[in-house]
Amino acid sequence: MDNCVFCKIIAREIPAEVLCEDSDTLVFLDIKGVNPGHVLVIPKEHYPDFLSTPVELLCRVISTAKTVIPAVLAATGTTAFNVGVNNGHDAGQVVGHMHLHLMPRRLGDGLELWHGKPYPEGEMKKTADAIRAKLPN
Ligand code: AMP
Repeated sequence: MDNCVFCKIIAREIPAEVLCEDSDTLVFLDIKGVNPGHVLVIPKEHYPDFLSTPVELLCRVISTAKTVIPAVLAATGTTAFNVGVNNGHDAGQVVGHMHLHLMPRRLGDGLELWHGKPYPEGEMKKTADAIRAKLPN
């Protein structure tokens, strides 16, 4: 897709530290990772986000991620990692080409996860009921 930075990486039109690829997926270093070894796994076919990507292709992305993670951990001397997907602008998605973040983690590396907040009285069940009502049968 024109003007997609990740499609340009796939086409080798712009440089990237590509780690590996297969027919469906490509893996490269995030240019501004949260830790060294922060990797992005992308489908080669352009889909704007997680939700629009066919489930079979998401499975290929996950499969590639599982292959790459041990190498990332071994190379960075880490044993823990986060997997993340930002879907949509409000969730922090900046690049509109589906991608999975693999982030090696160290104790005390300063990366903060979300801070949970409890539901006000009665709201948890209300929320669950609203979601259950929208689920496909
Ligand atoms: P997101 O906020 O989930 O859309 O994350 C997009 C990620 O892509 C960010 O972590 C960026 O640092 C990374 N990124 C953007 N442009 C490039 C690039 N040319 N090469 C490698 N990573 C990139």
